[in-house]
Amino acid sequence: MRTQEIAALLDEPGCPHSPGQKGGCARATPGAAAGGCAFDGAQITLLPIADAAHIIHGPISCAGSSWDNRGTRSTGPTMWRFGMTTDLSEQDIIMGRSEERLFHAIKQAVDDYEPAAVFVYNTCVPALTGDDLEAICKSAAQHWGTPVVPVDCAGFYGSKNLGNRIAGEALLNHVIGTREPEPLPPEGQGQRIHDIGLIGEFNIAGEFWNVLPLLDELGLRLLSSISGDARFQEVQTLHRSEANMLVCSKALMNVARQCHERYGTPYFEGSFYGVADTSAALRSFAESIGDPDLSERTERLIAREEARIDAELAPYRERLRGRRALLYTGGVKSWSVVSALQDLGMEIVATGTTKSTEADKARIRDLMGDSARMLDSGAPRTLIDTVHGHDADVLIAGGRNMYTAYKARIPFLDINQERPHAYAGYDGMIELARQLCRTIDSPIWPQVREPAPWEQEPAPWWEAAAS
Ligand code: SF4
Repeated sequence: MRTQEIAALLDEPGCPHSPGQKGGCARATPGAAAGGCAFDGAQITLLPIADAAHIIHGPISCAGSSWDNRGTRSTGPTMWRFGMTTDLSEQDIIMGRSEERLFHAIKQAVDDYEPAAVFVYNTCVPALTGDDLEAICKSAAQHWGTPVVPVDCAGFYGSKNLGNRIAGEALLNHVIGTREPEPLPPEGQGQRIHDIGLIGEFNIAGEFWNVLPLLDELGLRLLSSISGDARFQEVQTLHRSEANMLVCSKALMNVARQCHERYGTPYFEGSFYGVADTSAALRSFAESIGDPDLSERTERLIAREEARIDAELAPYRERLRGRRALLYTGGVKSWSVVSALQDLGMEIVATGTTKSTEADKARIRDLMGDSARMLDSGAPRTLIDTVHGHDADVLIAGGRNMYTAYKARIPFLDINQERPHAYAGYDGMIELARQLCRTIDSPIWPQVREPAPWEQEPAPWWEAAAS
C-alpha cells in the first residue's frame, strides 16, 4: 500500500477526529499496535464473513496470536475458525518463495474447501519484502474462478483502527457492487419490503439474532451486515441498500460515507444496546427510508416491545436501582451502554473514552451531565482507584481488564468482543440486567473480601496448636 493511500485513509472526512488532526483517531502513535496492529483490525473486520476463506500471508505468529479472538457467531459456515496462513519461514524469505507459497495456499483453500471467496491479508514481513499481493490475487482469481480479495494491511502501517478502514476499502474496491440482490416480491403482495444494510455489526455472542426478528417483522430485508454472520454474496449486494446503519461509531465510517457518495445510500449512526437506543435505531431506519406505513408499523412494534420489556425488567430494576458502575469501554458503547445502565436505574461513576470520538463524548455529556467523569486511560491503577474512590459496585469493561478486577476483588462484567452473552436488542437488555445482578450479588465477593484464615483474630486452631 502506498504512503498516499494510507494518508488518504487516515484523513477520513466522515470521522469527527480527523479534521485538523493528522491521521485523526486512526493515526499511528508509538505503541499504537499494542492494542492491535492494522492487520488485526482488518482481520477482525472481515473474518465474520463466514463462507469465505481467510488466508494470513506471513509468519505463523501473526495468525497464531490473533486466532479466534472475537466471539462472533454464524448460522452456517464457520470457515473463519480455520486459521489459514502461509506460515512463512526464514528460508521462504531468503529463497524468495513467499509469493509462490501464497499462490499454493490459495489453491489449497479453493480445492479443499470451495469457499465463496478468499481474503488474503498482508502482514509486515511480505510487505517489507515487497510481495505483489494484488497481482497474485488477480492471477489466482483468474485461474480458479473464485474471487480473491487482497487486503494490504501490514501491521506497521498503523493502528487497529486504520486496519478497520483498510478492510472497508478492500470491500469497497473489490466486493460491494459486484452482484445484484435477489428481487423483492412485487408490490401489492403484503407489506412493502425495504432493503437495508448494517455496517460495523459483528454479531458478538450471536446478539444480532435478538434484533433480526424485529427487522423481519417490519419488512426490512437485511441485504448485508458487515460483517456479523455475513455471506460473501450478501456483501456484494450492499450497494442496493436503501439505508445503512453505522453500528460502531468510527471503525467503518469510510464504508458508510462512500456508499452514500457512490450509491446515494443514506446512513445514520446508531446502537442496539439498551431499550431507548434499540427503539431509536428502528425509528431511524423508518425515517431514512421515508415510508409513512413503515413508520407507523415501527411505532406499533416499539410500543409493544417496550411494554413487554418494562414488565420483564421490573424485578431486575428493583435489584439494580442505585447500584454504581464504572464503565470502561470504547467507541459507541461508551455512551450506548451508559444509556442502558441508566435505564436500569444504575449510577455511572465514570466512563472510559479512550476510543471515543468527540461526538461520542458529547453524547456522554448529554446523558450524564456536564460533570460526567471520563477516563482517557485504562491503566489498572486508574481503574482500581476510580472503583474504590467512588464506591463502585461493579467494573464493566473489556476482557483485558478482567484480571485487574479479580485481583482487586472487584465484581467484573465483560462488555467487549470476547463476551459470552448477547446484550443487543430488547432481549439483550434483559440478559444484561440478569448478568449484572449475578455479578454484583454473587456470594463470592463477601467471601474473598474476608481476611485470610492466617490473618484472622484469634488465630485458627492449627496455628494455636503449633505454638
Ligand atoms: S502484522 Fe506485523 S505487527 Fe501485526 S502481528 Fe504480524 S508482525 Fe506483528
